[in-house]
Amino acid sequence: MIKSKEKKNQKQGMLENVMTQFNQAADLIDLNPNIRKILEVTNNELVVHFPVRMDNGEVEVFTGYRVQHNNSLGPYKGGLRYHPTVDIDAARALAMWMTWKTALAGLPYGGAKGGIQLDPSKYSMAELERITRRFTYALGDNIGPELDIPAPDVNTNAQTMAWILDTYMSTKPPAARSSNMHVVTGKPIGAGGSEGRDRATGFGVFLTIKFWAEHKNIPLENKRFIVQGFGNVGYWTSHFLEKEGAKLVAVQDAFGTITNDEGLSVEDLFAYAKENEGSIVGFPNSTPCDNADFFAIDCDICIPAALGNQITAENAPLIKAKLIAEGANGPTDVSAEMILRERNIDVIPDILCNSGGVIGSYFEWLQNRNGEIWSLEEVLQKLEKKMRENFERVKNKAEARSVDYRSAAFIIAIERFEQVYTQRGIFP
Ligand code: NAD
Repeated sequence: MIKSKEKKNQKQGMLENVMTQFNQAADLIDLNPNIRKILEVTNNELVVHFPVRMDNGEVEVFTGYRVQHNNSLGPYKGGLRYHPTVDIDAARALAMWMTWKTALAGLPYGGAKGGIQLDPSKYSMAELERITRRFTYALGDNIGPELDIPAPDVNTNAQTMAWILDTYMSTKPPAARSSNMHVVTGKPIGAGGSEGRDRATGFGVFLTIKFWAEHKNIPLENKRFIVQGFGNVGYWTSHFLEKEGAKLVAVQDAFGTITNDEGLSVEDLFAYAKENEGSIVGFPNSTPCDNADFFAIDCDICIPAALGNQITAENAPLIKAKLIAEGANGPTDVSAEMILRERNIDVIPDILCNSGGVIGSYFEWLQNRNGEIWSLEEVLQKLEKKMRENFERVKNKAEARSVDYRSAAFIIAIERFEQVYTQRGIFP
């Protein structure tokens, strides 16, 4: 059964995009060329091939990646993605975005990313568990609670993190086991996870939209929004927007696109997708729509929350939204960005918009490290405070320099590295 739609080349150019975004911002602040040289490349790149026994007794060999871009501000941090498009360039691009995201958020972390090149829908739960455990074993001591801390990303979740944690701990000497709980974040609550981490990214995306709307004096009530990707980020963003009175009028996922001009019920759609192998297609009271027409749907807010390079020069001229809130990493390519700028469509850039996830992860890591347990209310309150501060800093920088939000966000992040490399110098 092939339900998944083909999206050729979706990842191509992600590395080029992040490099262009970085270099454009570096030009604006006339970044020291020596610091630019350091930041343009990744620190470490690990590619592992590992065998796993399948349910039918055959052995399959998988390729996994972990790219560590920069750790001058703290341990490497970033998700693990299970997807056919995962390769070294995708991991490099996503690792770099993590560096800018954690720096912008003011966290004591660097940037990393990785994953396995595979289509998880082709494997049983037992196979995915063995693949994950064997991948963790192959990563060995290249990850660690004070070295490099993975988290969930596309097609990985709290369960994946629990398997990684268990494998990592099981391969350590007994005395070091329980103190390694913070080797991954995004764990199930029963296995050392934090309240609120499940919704942290979507809540953060929602908050940036809310702050933008407040700044523009636009009420969110009855505003029409469309979401690409109805997984962790897409669902939780929709959940909070619906609570604020906004209306979800179209959703696209890996299986297709559905619309309803009167509004789709977020919770009913979530329950439906859960029953249907994650697919939204066939949801009652919805009309199917051509995938290619998704971004042209009439709406006020567009939330790409799936993969990279989805908003392109081809569909950017057709977008009706006044705001694009980047739940996904790298959803807008550089050529599209220029068109959106000319059309006065605001973009809340990924490194700000979806940073609630890594901030939530930081809170989980801190709790594990300090032996604390925070309530959901406490987590969401702290998250909101941090997201508001970060949004304000980006808005103020954008105004002060007369640049768009993305350039402003990159400038703030890069300035942290300018400071750290100037203060620490270069070994030896
Ligand atoms: P997920 O696996 O929970 O959900 C992914 C969703 O995207 C699914 O609904 C899937 O059907 C859909 N999708 C996959 N391919 C698609 C395609 N070609 N077209 C349309 N839809 C497609 O993943 P997630 O954790 O929600 O991550 C989504 C995005 O958000 C990614 O870019 C990820 O890097 C980014 N992000 C995630 C987090 C997090 O905490 N999970 C944090 C920051 C950023």
